[in-house]
Amino acid sequence: MGGQPLFILNEDADRTKGKDAQSSNISAGKAVSESVRTTLGPRGMDKMLVSDDGDVVITNDGATILQEMDIEHPAAQMIVEVAETQEEDVGDGTTTASVLAGQLLAQAEDLLDDDVHPTTIVEGYHEAAQLAQEAIENEVLADELDDEQLLKVAKTSMTGKGTGDIAGDVLAQAVVEAVRQVESDDGVDRDAIALQTQIGASSSATELVEGVIVDEEPAHENMPRSVDDGAVAAIDGAIELRESSIDAEYNVTNVDQLNAALDAEEEELAGYAEALSELGVEIVFTSDDIDDRVVAHLAKAGILAFEDVSDDDLSAVISASGASRVSGVNDLDSDDLGSASVHVEKYGDEELAFVEGSEAETVTVFARGSTEHVVDEVERALKDALDVVTAALDKGGVVPGAGATEIAISAYVREQSASIEGRKQLAVDAFADAVDVLPRTLAENTGMDPIDALVDLRAEHEGGNLAGLISEGQTGVVADPLEYGVLDPAAVKREAVDSATEAATMIVRIDDVISSS
Ligand code: ADP
Ligand code: MG
Repeated sequence: MGGQPLFILNEDADRTKGKDAQSSNISAGKAVSESVRTTLGPRGMDKMLVSDDGDVVITNDGATILQEMDIEHPAAQMIVEVAETQEEDVGDGTTTASVLAGQLLAQAEDLLDDDVHPTTIVEGYHEAAQLAQEAIENEVLADELDDEQLLKVAKTSMTGKGTGDIAGDVLAQAVVEAVRQVESDDGVDRDAIALQTQIGASSSATELVEGVIVDEEPAHENMPRSVDDGAVAAIDGAIELRESSIDAEYNVTNVDQLNAALDAEEEELAGYAEALSELGVEIVFTSDDIDDRVVAHLAKAGILAFEDVSDDDLSAVISASGASRVSGVNDLDSDDLGSASVHVEKYGDEELAFVEGSEAETVTVFARGSTEHVVDEVERALKDALDVVTAALDKGGVVPGAGATEIAISAYVREQSASIEGRKQLAVDAFADAVDVLPRTLAENTGMDPIDALVDLRAEHEGGNLAGLISEGQTGVVADPLEYGVLDPAAVKREAVDSATEAATMIVRIDDVISSS
């Protein structure tokens, strides 16, 4: 190498090693998790997030908060990913997962200070996570999930989301009905549940529509605004002249020829409307333009038409009505037609078309709210509730909420750690201590003394009683969550344990940070 020094790194690269790297990563991860801590649970506070361009989001949703925050530190970014994974996989428990990840890091920091090797921490955490999964399985309620229990699961996920009690009942009802509609032997077809929001009414006006709602208005004001059980055509294309008969290439030399060409055009356009009429089409959706002259013919024939319909909306119409997708009027056959009742309703300046099909494979939760912020938060609450009810049915049942399952986890992990040898035991115990952050945070956010609350919870658990921290009025009580209907899907806890452990161990393993800049 001719004695030349070998530079692996750019000279400008920043490099932090060993303890320094670890502690900077751990601090960053902890800070992110700390930022959502106060939103955990029914008494959690909301956060107002203002973006660079002035957009405001008010929310209590952990995933939303972390997404909106502009987090750059790579270790902190891993905690954000915990929330994102949790959101994608089970749709709820994002705050739980990120708070747990942060606390696992805090405990790891103490272990590192006591000279426990990172590898030992990682192994201990993984073993403890395994034990935590066993503990969760032990807490899964045995009974068959009936609608009443599903309503509780839905309501539990919405408490503290600013939807209020009365609206909460209405929303939970719509959610459970929606899930039941799309449930089959193969499970819940979550994708068959659509959500449409509309401001201008209180959130308790939220309802379930059997079919889809498309954000479209009739192509002509003289068209019918309501058709019952009409034949539906779904055209993925335009209804217009195949090719202009009078363009530059066509040499019109006299008036007769011009008139003939115009007549031919007229005839072609009228022909489309006639063809639709003859097939008995009463409602037509096209993804592209409908020529104005065709629109006029259709209006005259009493056919309700929607043009420039978005791809998603056309697919929704197809699934609701059972119509087949065709590319033009000429390809349309009578067996391509679907059937649906369509009603157009006006909301302020906007019009929405309600398409309730006979197939009704798709249902829509029509969410209302008085303002844009309310309706946004209602939408997020509904999404969580739809996800948790789906998870409860499809992913292994429900467990008691309000911290009861977490207390059971930490007790079980501590109990089992006795048989684990050496320093790894310290890490397993630290994991149990980390899980305690969840009930502790619930207590804090409810205005209870966190130390007393934990002591009481543990005592109840040791006495064989199911106990959680139920928020009531301005404070909280130690009580049986089942009596208060506080139920979480088991999948939310399983996923939170896994994704938090994954992120925390990944961060602990890093002892060398090289940033090129
Ligand atoms: P996450 O983003 O983790 O879902 P939440 O703010 O939704 O965070 O809080 C979820 C926690 O709140 C769960 O542990 C759940 O059991 C608990 N919880 C929900 N309703 C109640 C209640 N009425 N009393 C006490 N705890 C509750
Ligand atoms: Mg939640």
